Amino acid sequence: MTGRWIAITVVATAMATWAIGPDLVAQTQSAEASDAGKIYERLPGLDTQLIDKSADPCADFAKYACGNFSKLYPIPNDRSTFGPGAMLMEYNQRVLHTLLEKAAQGGSDRTSNEQKIGDYYASCMDQDAIDHNGLAPLQPELDRIAALKSKDELTPLLAHYQMIGVNAFLNYGEQQDFKDARKQIASLDQGGLGLPERDYYFRTGEAAEKTRKEYVQHVANMLKLMGEPESQATSDAEAIMQLETALAKVAMDITSQRDPNNIYHLMPVTALGSLTPDLSWTQFFKDTDTPPITEVNVANPDFFKGLNALLSSTSLPVIKTYLRWRLINSTPSEVLPKAFDDEHFDFYGHRLRGQPEQRARWKRCVQATDAALGEALGQVYAAQEFPPSSKQATLQMVHDIETAMDQDINTLDWMSASTKVRAKEKLRAIADKIGYPDHWRDYSKLVVVRDDAYGNAIRAMEFENERELAKIGKPVDRGEFGMSPPTVNAYYSPSMNDINFPAGILQPPFFDPHSTDAENYGHIGAIVGHELTHGFDDQGRQFDGNGNLSDWWTSEDAKKFEAKADCEVKEYSGFTAVGDAKVNGKLTLGENTADNGGLRLAYIAFLEDAKRKNIDLSQKQDGYTPLQQFFLGYGQNWCGDTRPEQLRVQVQTDPHSPRHFRVDGVVQNMPEFGQAFGCKVGQPMMPVNYCRVW
Ligand SMILES: [Zn+2]
Repeated sequence: MTGRWIAITVVATAMATWAIGPDLVAQTQSAEASDAGKIYERLPGLDTQLIDKSADPCADFAKYACGNFSKLYPIPNDRSTFGPGAMLMEYNQRVLHTLLEKAAQGGSDRTSNEQKIGDYYASCMDQDAIDHNGLAPLQPELDRIAALKSKDELTPLLAHYQMIGVNAFLNYGEQQDFKDARKQIASLDQGGLGLPERDYYFRTGEAAEKTRKEYVQHVANMLKLMGEPESQATSDAEAIMQLETALAKVAMDITSQRDPNNIYHLMPVTALGSLTPDLSWTQFFKDTDTPPITEVNVANPDFFKGLNALLSSTSLPVIKTYLRWRLINSTPSEVLPKAFDDEHFDFYGHRLRGQPEQRARWKRCVQATDAALGEALGQVYAAQEFPPSSKQATLQMVHDIETAMDQDINTLDWMSASTKVRAKEKLRAIADKIGYPDHWRDYSKLVVVRDDAYGNAIRAMEFENERELAKIGKPVDRGEFGMSPPTVNAYYSPSMNDINFPAGILQPPFFDPHSTDAENYGHIGAIVGHELTHGFDDQGRQFDGNGNLSDWWTSEDAKKFEAKADCEVKEYSGFTAVGDAKVNGKLTLGENTADNGGLRLAYIAFLEDAKRKNIDLSQKQDGYTPLQQFFLGYGQNWCGDTRPEQLRVQVQTDPHSPRHFRVDGVVQNMPEFGQAFGCKVGQPMMPVNYCRVW
């Protein structure tokens, strides 16, 4: 994951999610008059109001299932994309808001966690204090840059930056060893860019050139706000762009990073001295409080070679300018004075993603508190919002879908018996994690001060990075969740070999206790199937049941898998998102495989469920048969709309396909869909030739 405000780096394959993560969702704030202030309730499991009956389900199923969604729920001005997932996030935010307002009222009877979440939120909400302080809270950091006398003094500063979340030159953290998942090791990765991805520095075409021009202007505007005269800010911004472009040149693109073998180079720490001799690695590990280590994963050794050449050839004043930019750019903008916050939004929210307005401050502060103290806030949230019955029902569905996968493996005509045995071993080893962790994170050492928004943000980041780095050399905690309980998302981790469903997503419309089984299997069942299939997509299949990167496939089966996957690469590469921006079939392969496999597994599991419960598959409800309800439930997961600017960012950075294709791209690969809706072979949603991996 890359983002401007995230915990210390996690390598690219660490998490395969169901939807776009908050790190890629524009940070936002607003005026009150627009529809950004609209109150959203939870949608029901199947919402027939969303269906556009004038559309032909066999021609464009997404349009049929969701055609009325954007008329009823247009994208609010404080978002760049909107759908049922975002609506549920809005709902969850209101729940959290009430909890936080109460905790923020103070009083001596607050628990330690209530003090922390309440004061974190209150300090973030205090825009007047933040504006009044100006850049004073950052002054010690700025002084430290100004005091650099030679490049030899860079190492301690870069180590410090890793701890406080400043993304300069590189990223450092811990990961499970790809080849021995029992081990937690140190991990170094490329970093230091302000644009979303390395190709943003090189892509041709009008839109790409415009973004680069606007980015340089944004850098100059921020430097001006920091006190530089106009002409200096302009030339400094050019120098920063030149340096970042040179860094991008030696960085690996996101599609190549999908292959775990490309980002795994375990080496003795002493080898770092020959890759990047200009940094003092002994000091770096000491200053980051890294436990004693003998080896480190260098995700991209070429980057670290290139970084050394760049550090040698770039003058100290340019490096200092770059560091000042990385400092201000990496600081969460909601704790910066309003002028900085507005300028940050103008580029990253408005120009890059097409979002008309900043999001209300309270929403951003709820999100920031969730990011900093997710399990303190989430503990209260889960106790209030997640009944044991929901956990039980979800667990039952997860088991049904795992059984469906076991059966599905039996029926694969292309896979040999020996690979099937290994696939089933892996399937049986998958751990299911539902709702929230059994053991809550201990925040007692994190200091939160009511009137110190910047300090709180930095201390929370340091606390999290220290927590991550302290794992190195220790056994893996298999109970840990990588998402906070209120999150509307889910993920599979190949190293843990587990599927994770936070409480936040286990509610209507995705899981609705009042809805039919058919609808629930289409909604949450397909999401469960999606995460499970990630264990067997182009990335996940390279890891075994113990979470180790090891090839358990016969070479013939692997070739057959690749040919089948290639069908999906071609299918999705044919989809145009906006203008000249097409879906990248290779970047989205894992997600598309998970979408396709997930819906099929949910379908098999639903048929079993219907058999068990004697559900009459011809009995209509709301005008739809159970199988039609199943597919409508799935289609309605992806209702909604995305602004054109955000669509472009999405296809260039996000492994998930745009929402429309997550529906049509999948159902056209399932003749069972065409049969349920009476389509004819040859119609768009029931083509003669279709793709199937799982
Ligand atoms: Zn996914």
